Amino acid sequence: MKRIIFGTKNEHKLQEVRDILSEFPFIVLDKLPSHVPSAQETGKSFLENAIQKALFYSGLVHEPVLAEDSGIVVVPLGRFPGIQSARWGEGNLSQFEKNLWIIQQLRDLPSRKRVAYYECALVYVEGKDVCFTTVQRVIGVIASRPVGQKGFGYDPIFYFQPLRKTFAQIPQKRKNLYSHRGKAFRRWAEWYRSMRLEPFDFFPLHA
Ligand code: IMP
Repeated sequence: MKRIIFGTKNEHKLQEVRDILSEFPFIVLDKLPSHVPSAQETGKSFLENAIQKALFYSGLVHEPVLAEDSGIVVVPLGRFPGIQSARWGEGNLSQFEKNLWIIQQLRDLPSRKRVAYYECALVYVEGKDVCFTTVQRVIGVIASRPVGQKGFGYDPIFYFQPLRKTFAQIPQKRKNLYSHRGKAFRRWAEWYRSMRLEPFDFFPLHA
């Protein structure tokens, strides 16, 4: 089994991704060594940032690397905060205050116009080769108040209509079935499984 390093410093993401990949037992995902510095994120899209992170970490750890960039895009706010999801308001606003600010900006809009989506760009790199990329989304609306204690980040204000709940109200396993990150990592894992099949998987020597 080949070890793969997940290029993130975000414990919530690591936990989510380990859970998503638990149905693919041939994948051994490890976190970044603690001495590795954080990658810069200067791209103009989630995908550019994910590629930048994956190549940066790959150059440092010399092992296959998975890296993702994700965030929330609030359509009526001109697609803000998008790739700034983690950074805007840093040092001034708590996550709770950021969530309230978004709700406040949308207060005059009916629910059907409060459209938002999470996006996740996922990139897999071996050495300097970008071997796999995918960009996945999940669409919802911004709730009129924060609800729920689970999840992280914008989950208490991300209302997912098919379940009539915010992402902070549903257990992680359920969130993973629908989430941007769940979709992206399952796609990658299917691809990875298809790539690592040996001819002997089809024509066993000792059948
Ligand atoms: P990144 O580490 O630069 O990719 O930052 C992603 C940021 O987007 C996080 O810190 C969260 O604020 C937000 N985000 C991404 N995915 C999720 C999610 O599944 N739930 C809640 N917030 C998310």
